[in-house]
Amino acid sequence: MKAVIFDFDGTLTKTKKGSNCWYKIWEYIDDLEYDSYLYNKFKNKEINDTQWFKLIFERYKEKNVQKKYLENIALKIKLLPGTYKTLEQLYKNGIKIFILSGGVRQIIESVLNREKILPFVTSLESYDLIFDKNGKLYDFKFPCLHNLENKNEYIDLIKKQYHFSKDEILFVGNGANDEKAYLSGAKTLCINPDDTDINNKTIWHNSIKNCKNLLEILKYCDI
Ligand SMILES: [Mg+2]
Repeated sequence: MKAVIFDFDGTLTKTKKGSNCWYKIWEYIDDLEYDSYLYNKFKNKEINDTQWFKLIFERYKEKNVQKKYLENIALKIKLLPGTYKTLEQLYKNGIKIFILSGGVRQIIESVLNREKILPFVTSLESYDLIFDKNGKLYDFKFPCLHNLENKNEYIDLIKKQYHFSKDEILFVGNGANDEKAYLSGAKTLCINPDDTDINNKTIWHNSIKNCKNLLEILKYCDI
């Protein structure tokens, strides 16, 4: 392998089912009902994903979401045991590490920074909440291809940019929103599945149903 691309929530982290970065923010501001309300609107196709994220942003602004909230949330996020050692091993073997997450960059970076693994990561693609110098939310940025629903398109981009062939890339994910990764032709590995069928071998080439330590993935990385 020349590159390993990770999802974040539930793949690199220990989390209860469905509890991603966004959920944690809604929980923090005690507004989970509004979260479900928007999610249902999206599910019923009343709003598209762009409108969904704009509405989330508007609500966060109304609720005065601050940078320190995200830092507090990040403090509570625990990585899967062995994450540091795994990423260090990959890095030392010249394998590039990418993170593709439908979560929030400020939270993810804060966790990776605390765990001293940010220097191992070539790039992180996710949503950005932008704060002013007083830590007040004022803007919102979509990831480079607008949404992270189609992770295969991001993998294609990485393939092109770094001249990797599809066989040189391993994608590691855990959930339904990672399922499209296989469309890129990359090898796919599902760990700690949440809302996805690991028996579907078209989508998931390999799986570790109960991955207790991230080091277990190394045997799929050819090192
Ligand atoms: Mg996930």
